Amino acid sequence: MRRNLVGATRAELAELLAELDPRPFRAQQVYQWVARRMAGGVEEMTNLPKALREALAERADVRDPEVVEVRRGSDGTAKYALALADGAVVEAVAMPMEGHTTICLSSQTGCAVGCIFCVTGVLGSGRNLTAGEIFGQYRTILRHEGIVGQPVNLVFMGMGEPLLNLDHVARAVELIAETVSPKRVTVSTSGIVPGIQKLAELERRPKLAVSLNATTQEQRERLMPIAARWPLDELLATLREFPLERGRRITFEYVMLAGINDADEDARRLPRLLRGIPCKVNLIPLNPDARYLGELEAPDEERISAFAGILAAAHVNVTVRWSKGREVAAACGQLRGQLIARPTAQA
Ligand code: SF4
Repeated sequence: MRRNLVGATRAELAELLAELDPRPFRAQQVYQWVARRMAGGVEEMTNLPKALREALAERADVRDPEVVEVRRGSDGTAKYALALADGAVVEAVAMPMEGHTTICLSSQTGCAVGCIFCVTGVLGSGRNLTAGEIFGQYRTILRHEGIVGQPVNLVFMGMGEPLLNLDHVARAVELIAETVSPKRVTVSTSGIVPGIQKLAELERRPKLAVSLNATTQEQRERLMPIAARWPLDELLATLREFPLERGRRITFEYVMLAGINDADEDARRLPRLLRGIPCKVNLIPLNPDARYLGELEAPDEERISAFAGILAAAHVNVTVRWSKGREVAAACGQLRGQLIARPTAQA
C-alpha cells in the first residue's frame, strides 16, 4: 500500500524522501504541493525532477475522501457526503458568504454525545477521524468547489465532537494553517470541559464556540446528556478562564426549540449566566428533519425575535442564524442520515 501524502507532516515527508533526495527543501516542496497548492497527485508536482516524481509515485500517492454525493441549494450551499478509505461516510459543507466561503468539517464518523436535536447524535457513536481524513475533507471541498487559494473560514461543526478527538483536530488545524490562519477556524464543542482546557493550552488556538442550548442544568441535561458529566456551572467556570486575545469572543450557539428553551424566562436567565465572558450568542432555529419532526420544532419567527430582543436589551451581542442549506439537509448529520441507516461501528 502506497503512503498517502495527505495529512503527512514535514518530518514524515523528510523521512519518506530520505532515500530519494534528503535535501530539506524537497520535503518542503512536497508539503507545499499537498497542503498549500492542493495537488491531486504526485505527477502535478512539477518543480520536482521527473525521476524523483516517478520514484516518489512508486512509494506514495495523494488520496482524498471520495465524493459520494453533492447536494447544492439555491443559496449556493453545497453539502458533500464523503467516503473514507474504510467506507465510513462523513459530511462536509461549503457555504458561500460575502467575500469568502465557510467550510464545515466533520471530526468523527458519528457522535456519542447524543444531543436530542441532532441527527448525528440520534444515529449514535462513530470513530475518530485522523488528521489526514479531516484535512482530506478540506482539500476535497477546495478542489471540487474550485476555490483553492481563495479566502475561507472553517468551522468544526459537522459530525462529531471535535474536543473528543482534539489531537487529530489540532494536527489538522496545523495542516490547514498553511492556507488559513487559526484565527479563521472555529471549533464548536458541546461542552467537554477537559477538551476546552487542553484547547486553551494550544499555542495556535482556533476560536471557540460552545453549543449551550439551555439556561438551566436540568434543561441542558434533557437536551444534551453530556451535561450530566460536565455540568453547566463547571462549563461556565472553565470558559471564564479561557484565554482570549484582544477582541476575540466565545460564541454560544443556542438551538431554539419551541416550548423547550424559548421562553422569556430563558432569555432573561441567559445574560446572567454569561456575565463576565466576552461572547456573542447565535440563535439557531431548529433545522427540521423527519426523524424528530413532531417531537421537536423550531419556534415561530415572532418568538425568536422576542427572545433575541430580550437578549439585545440586556446588551448581549446576539444574531439569529437562519440556517443556510435547509433544502439540502445541511444540518449536522442530515445528509448522511438520509444516505445510510446505521453509523459506522466505533473504532
Ligand atoms: S450536536 Fe454535535 S455534539 Fe451534539 S450529538 Fe450532534 S455532533 Fe454530537
